[in-house]
Amino acid sequence: MTQPTDQVTEHGGGVWSLRVPIPDNPLGHTLVHVLDTDRGPVLIDTGWDDPASWNELTSGLAVLGLDVREVHGVVVTHHHPDHHGLSGRVREESGAWIAMHAADIAVVRRTGSAEPGRWLDYLARKLAAVGAPEEHTAPLLAARAAGRMRTLPGLSSALPDREIVPGELLDLAGRRLRAVWTPGHTPGHVCLHLEEAHPAGLPGHGRLFSGDHLLPEISPHIGLYEDPDETTTAADPLGDYLDSLERIGRLGVAEVLPAHQYAFPDAARRVRELLDHHEERLAGLLALLAVPLTPWQLAERMEWNRPWELIPHGSRNIAVSEAEAHLRRLVKQGRAEPLAGTDPVAYQAV
Ligand SMILES: [Zn+2]
Ligand SMILES: [Zn+2]
Repeated sequence: MTQPTDQVTEHGGGVWSLRVPIPDNPLGHTLVHVLDTDRGPVLIDTGWDDPASWNELTSGLAVLGLDVREVHGVVVTHHHPDHHGLSGRVREESGAWIAMHAADIAVVRRTGSAEPGRWLDYLARKLAAVGAPEEHTAPLLAARAAGRMRTLPGLSSALPDREIVPGELLDLAGRRLRAVWTPGHTPGHVCLHLEEAHPAGLPGHGRLFSGDHLLPEISPHIGLYEDPDETTTAADPLGDYLDSLERIGRLGVAEVLPAHQYAFPDAARRVRELLDHHEERLAGLLALLAVPLTPWQLAERMEWNRPWELIPHGSRNIAVSEAEAHLRRLVKQGRAEPLAGTDPVAYQAV
């Protein structure tokens, strides 16, 4: 038995979690899970690409008597940098494979080949189309004109070399780990179902590595899937997320091992809370849509963790994307509709 520390938690049955810090982020840390297999340790997610985070990851492994060079494979729940950031470094050191769902591999490939200017153009165009005021888009356009292009997070992230196929068992010696596709937070988010008896005998069907899909106290961000090439309004991330939640609720797992915060039992209860939360939020938005609103105006009126005036520029982009995802859902449900002849398009409850 390893001694429990703040950094390392033993979950039993050859599963541990390591706290890997996310610099300057209120989330604090990513829980990187270590799964023992007959061919060596496999990591589920890796953490943010930062020297301090790398040190925490490798020293956490050392507490378990492991060297990062022994890592056999990396399973990535989704492409976000707090999950996939260090995968490339782990592969460099160990020769491990990296597995991810095809839809998120496509995002990594697209982001890696994107010219930052093209991305800024896309963002500015998109923001204008949802009704962002000029004072919001002006700094983006000025940066574009001056050639001041911040590098995008994830620009240099590693291209996975294996695809995670939904519904299939991963090729892990001596373990039964099945991929469950849970799109919503990202198009290719997966949860990993460890189909083995709970080591402490908790009732239920095994354990679930839930990534960002199911967290004990946080409702994950659901925005539109960011795709500069998107040409239709077919994607419905919030609808995908709610469907994925129900699917996870039906698994009847004994315990959830999420990528942030802490492990918890009773997935079904948490799923119900989140479904209720989203239904309430959709109903609240419908009430706001008694008058026509652009997605931007809706975002300004929605409830956030602080007043709109205090939300910084970058976070407003995320907020408006969330408003759009909710509008997209309400339109699909036939509860709201875009008003013909409005530009930027305004929406109203039906
Ligand atoms: Zn995420
Ligand atoms: Zn995350």
